[in-house]
Amino acid sequence: MSEVCDKVTEGDINSAARLIRDIEDDIPGVKDILKELYPFTGNAYVIGITGAPGVGKSTLVDAMLSHLRREGKTVGVLAVDPTSPFSGGAILGDRIRMRRHALDDGVFIRSLATRGQFGGLARAARGAIDVLDAMGKDYIIVETVGVGQDEVDIAQIAQTTVVVVVPRLGDGIQAMKAGILEVGDIFLINKADNEHADRALNDLKSMLGMNQHERCADRWRPPVLKAQAAADIGVVEFMAEIEAHGQYLRRTSDGPCYRRSKESVRHDLLEMVKYQLIEDMTRRLENTGNLDRMVDLIAQGKTDPFTACEEIVLNYRAIAKSQ
Ligand code: GDP
Repeated sequence: MSEVCDKVTEGDINSAARLIRDIEDDIPGVKDILKELYPFTGNAYVIGITGAPGVGKSTLVDAMLSHLRREGKTVGVLAVDPTSPFSGGAILGDRIRMRRHALDDGVFIRSLATRGQFGGLARAARGAIDVLDAMGKDYIIVETVGVGQDEVDIAQIAQTTVVVVVPRLGDGIQAMKAGILEVGDIFLINKADNEHADRALNDLKSMLGMNQHERCADRWRPPVLKAQAAADIGVVEFMAEIEAHGQYLRRTSDGPCYRRSKESVRHDLLEMVKYQLIEDMTRRLENTGNLDRMVDLIAQGKTDPFTACEEIVLNYRAIAKSQ
């Protein structure tokens, strides 16, 4: 076993931090270490927390950390959020709060920068989760902003995805973006001290009800909860729902854990293949100057993008075949 793998599985913080940075930068050789680490993964419970900036995600994660630490659980936190206190953003006010956990040996907090393309962020998140998992963390909390494709991909990695929203004047919960109803296993209305909280709760429940028509009877029905993360109100109930969802997954999964269920493995594998192919193809296109050549031809009206695309793909297949 390589030294890095040894150190990470022993829980060494510096090695893990360095490896996560290498994963982000997609440096050569990192894949070999991830291959070695793979047998040590699959034990952590991964919770995704997603929601717009300011809804109280960091405050909630802070409260979750306190609860899990009280139970003696070790936790890794991955902040995939440019506004996160751990990615060099402003460290102001309440954001300092989560920092107290950064001094705790049982907590490991890291941020992932939003660089990369073609699902690079989700790829990096998947790798970083594996590192935290191999370190032996019982829980991994992944905090993301909004519902871009990257966030949806990251939600796929988590066993339990939590969508955090806040009550808003006038529009109730209407401001929720399309697609968010599908990714949530649990919906949390934070800042329930707001007078519009009950309306938001009812709105969201009826929206989810409509969404559930085609679901089979034994499917998980995402609960809608209220909380006040800043005052640690409703967090115990929220943690109980996460536990209930975990039990549901264990009951219904066809693998030893959800992350090893066929559905999850198939998704991860496909994402990996797509990323690898697109990366490889794009690099070739750029290095050979073929991309620029095609762009010029299209711009000059000498060909159309459909023909250019066909040519690029045929060319790529020919190269792949000859190798
Ligand atoms: P994030 O951007 O989603 O991570 O949000 P933060 O955790 O930084 O919280 C944004 C602001 O909302 C902070 O000032 C928090 O103190 C505040 N906040 C968090 N939870 C609550 C709550 O339950 N009620 C109220 N009124 N404010 C809260």
